[in-house]
Amino acid sequence: AKRIVIKIGTSSLILPNGHLNLKNIDDLAFTLSSLQHEGYEMILVTSGAVGVGLNVLEMVKRPTDMAQQQALAAVGQVELMSLYNQLFSRYQQKVSQLLLTRDVVDFPESRKNATNAINALLSLDIIPIINENDAVSVEEMAHRTKFGDNDKLGALVTVLTDADLLIMLSDIEGLYDKNPNIFDDAKLIENVTEITETIMKTAGGAGSRFGTGGMTSKLEAAKIIFDADKQMVLTNGARIREIRDVIDGKKRGTYFE
Ligand code: ADP
Repeated sequence: AKRIVIKIGTSSLILPNGHLNLKNIDDLAFTLSSLQHEGYEMILVTSGAVGVGLNVLEMVKRPTDMAQQQALAAVGQVELMSLYNQLFSRYQQKVSQLLLTRDVVDFPESRKNATNAINALLSLDIIPIINENDAVSVEEMAHRTKFGDNDKLGALVTVLTDADLLIMLSDIEGLYDKNPNIFDDAKLIENVTEITETIMKTAGGAGSRFGTGGMTSKLEAAKIIFDADKQMVLTNGARIREIRDVIDGKKRGTYFE
C-alpha cells in the first residue's frame, strides 16, 4: 500500500471570519476515507487546536498570554477531534488521535514507540490524526514561527512512518517566485529539486492571518523531506479533492522531488 501523509493548516480549517470551515473538513473526511478504502494508508497531521478553541470560547483574537493559549489549545483539540470523528464516521472510517511533542521525536525510544503505534493503527485500518501537544509543549508555542509549526511535524511524521509522500495543504496554489500577496506578477514554481538560498528567499513574511508558519516553515519542512529522500507536494487546501488529483498523478501545486 502507498502511505501518504496529509498536513492541513489552520487556514484550511477555519474561515476568515473565525467560523469552522465545515464544508472543507467534510471534504477532507470524504477524500481521506475514500483513499483509505481503496487501500492507501492515510495519515493526517492537523493544526487548528487554538483556532478552534477561539471559536468554541467565542473569542476573536489569539491571546498573547502563554497559559491562555495552552488552555485554548486544550479546549480546541477536543472539539477538533470530535468533529473529525463525526465526519469520518459518516464515511465508515475510524480515526485515532496522537499528540506528539518534540521530545517524542528526538529520543530514539519514544520515537520507536510512536512509530509502532502509528503502524499498529494503520494495520487496523484506522487513520491516525496527529497534532503537536500544544497544551503542554510550551516552548514550541513560544517559538512557533521559528520552529515552523506543524509543517515540520508533517515532515517528521513522513520520515518517521517511512511514508511515500507528504501533501502539504495551504491557503495558496503552491510556492511562487515571490510573495504573491505583495507582487501581482508572482509566478508559480512547479518543480523544486533542491532548497537553495534563492528558493528560501522567495518566502516573504509571516503569511495569512490565521496561518502561523508562513512559507518559510513549509520550505524548512521541504528540507527535511529532501534530506530523507522523500517527496512533498504543496497545494491549495481550499479544494480538498485535489488530494485525489495529486495521488492520481495530475499536476497540482508545487512538487518538491
Ligand atoms: P497555512 O496556515 O495554510 O499553513 P501560511 O499562512 O502559514 O498557511 O503560509 C502560506 C502563506 O505564505 C501564503 O498565503 C502567502 O501569504 C505567504 N507567502 C509568502 N511568500 C510566498 C511565496 N513565495 N509563495 C507562496 N506563498 C507565500
